[in-house]
Amino acid sequence: MEMNQPQGLTVRTFACPYCQDDGLDELDLLDHCNEHHANDSKRVVCPVCVQMPHGDPQYYSRNFIGHLNLRHCYYLDDMTNLNQTDELNIQCAILASYKKNI
Ligand SMILES: [Zn+2]
Ligand SMILES: [Zn+2]
Repeated sequence: MEMNQPQGLTVRTFACPYCQDDGLDELDLLDHCNEHHANDSKRVVCPVCVQMPHGDPQYYSRNFIGHLNLRHCYYLDDMTNLNQTDELNIQCAILASYKKNI
């Protein structure tokens, strides 16, 4: 029995699918990839989505950075808001493009 796994309380961490850099939470991963892999066109599996209940480990994102910026620019602890945050997504996209110019 694995009942002592806290649900949604701890920050999940992921490994960068490009360089296997470990221990990144979603926002770290986003920053990391924007910083180090913005021009990397290698197809990778999103490590965040894979850990989702319906994650597909075979899904190689053609534009992982874009996917990250769109889907993982905020913590997914409010999964319930996921379908209502178009505005937030847009803000994140703006923020992401803004960051690139720094
Ligand atoms: Zn990396
Ligand atoms: Zn993803």
